[in-house]
Amino acid sequence: MTEKTAQHTDPDCLFCKIIAGQIPSDKVYEDDVVYAFKDINPKAKVHVLVVPKNHYKDVADLAENDPKTLVHIVETAKKIAEDAFHGNFRLIFNTGKDAGQSVFHVHAHVLTGEVLEE
Ligand code: AMP
Ligand code: ZN
Repeated sequence: MTEKTAQHTDPDCLFCKIIAGQIPSDKVYEDDVVYAFKDINPKAKVHVLVVPKNHYKDVADLAENDPKTLVHIVETAKKIAEDAFHGNFRLIFNTGKDAGQSVFHVHAHVLTGEVLEE
């Protein structure tokens, strides 16, 4: 278990820089715990990334060290989908390089806003 602090960030991390406002993003939602912004390369009509403000490398790391925040990410996804598409959404956590993870700050892909292909 790694220690969780209020300022658990990585200065070299793209998403930590986005959360800090050092790199611009199209913000959809923010509170004390999570930041949500539009994916730069959308795979659905609405494609939002929901990230915890604290840096965890992937969803397994988050589940082990801060499960409440993982639940909050799911609740945030639900809220985004209620606004965009009567609460229906697909939630994806690519975990590890060979599963397609390219940014190693845990992020939920929320796909919604239209009927999704299987
Ligand atoms: P993954 O491949 O699961 O790690 O997802 C990383 C996602 O981040 C991809 O869908 C990218 O399109 C997205 N992405 C990368 N850079 C940015 C950025 N500056 N702003 C918004 N989304 C980004
Ligand atoms: Zn980070």
